[in-house]
Amino acid sequence: MPNTHTPEQIIRAEILALSAYHVPPAAGMIKLDAMENPYPLPSALRDEIAQLALHAPVNRYPDASAASLKETLRQTLGISDNLDILLGNGSDEIIQIIAMAIAKPGAVLMSVEPAFVMFRMIATFANIPYVGVPLKNDFTLDLDAMLAAIAKHQPAVIFLAYPNNPTGNLFNRAAILSIIQATPGIIVIDEAYQAFAEDSFIDQLGHYPNLLLMRTLSKSGLAGLRLGLLIGRPEWLKQLEKVRLPYNIGIMTQLIAEKVLHHTPVLSEQAQAIKSERAKMSAFLGTMRGITVYPSNANFILFRVNAASQIFQALKQHNILIKNLDGTHPLLENCLRETVGTPDENSQFCATLRTILSETV
Ligand SMILES: *Cc1c(COP(=O)(O)O)cnc(C)c1O
Repeated sequence: MPNTHTPEQIIRAEILALSAYHVPPAAGMIKLDAMENPYPLPSALRDEIAQLALHAPVNRYPDASAASLKETLRQTLGISDNLDILLGNGSDEIIQIIAMAIAKPGAVLMSVEPAFVMFRMIATFANIPYVGVPLKNDFTLDLDAMLAAIAKHQPAVIFLAYPNNPTGNLFNRAAILSIIQATPGIIVIDEAYQAFAEDSFIDQLGHYPNLLLMRTLSKSGLAGLRLGLLIGRPEWLKQLEKVRLPYNIGIMTQLIAEKVLHHTPVLSEQAQAIKSERAKMSAFLGTMRGITVYPSNANFILFRVNAASQIFQALKQHNILIKNLDGTHPLLENCLRETVGTPDENSQFCATLRTILSETV
């Protein structure tokens, strides 16, 4: 028998150097860490879903093209016939598909910093150099720096989240259009939080051949299903389809997503409720001494405190789980991110935070 290798000898150095994406345990907690919609579906709709599950032919592979679901998405989102749709097991998988497809020697994946961490992580998985252009101190786009970085690195793909995670803001629309025009490669606008924003680039798909638009059902109420979509010109999506694994969207996801999409007012009413709670939460945080709250167009709020880790831990001891961003990027020093929950969860969060702050300062 030959000597067996250790993982350290076989696994790529960049992978050995990573720490796995950390999902903290949340059993019994008020969960305000992961941008989930806090509201369940109405019980009548859940009964309909139960019927679908009862009759689903789970012994068969799902429809590999998810044709029926795609048609429903096309109608609900108003996607024109000259554009194609690619489905992913969450939009995370779509980022991965794009990264794998472009991973030639020398290809660069670009985004801003701080941005959604999966852009950087997936670049690493796919062995692609990642360039993150820092945002300005107020989390707006640094257009000059972006244009200079594009000229220098000629990125194969740029990912921009609109609104951005973890900052919550919408970047300047004109600045994004300048970036699109300056980019020789693909540009993906990631609209994961579109349900809570007042804007979209969907109307620009017709104007720019290399523009792709990504959406997900996760943040608007179906995180457990894992469904993301990419919308763009057929000449791009035809190539990306080749990288998609044939049965990546399971039958339950296809059936349930389609059913819920036929009840879009349910999700949009929930989004409306989240937006009005967001306004209340922002106003509350704005009145607290020692807190800087940043404007949000998403279902979460970023705020800066004096001792983030201490406050994060104290909230956790009170069974409230949010996200501590301190230490993840220099611009996020002492920043916390709180997902907007139900009115009840939010008032518990506010009351607890008030107590903690009065004890720590
Ligand atoms: C949450 C998030 C995603 C990933 O969502 P999926 O659940 O994988 O669909 C993508 N982009 C941004 C900016 C996000 O915040």
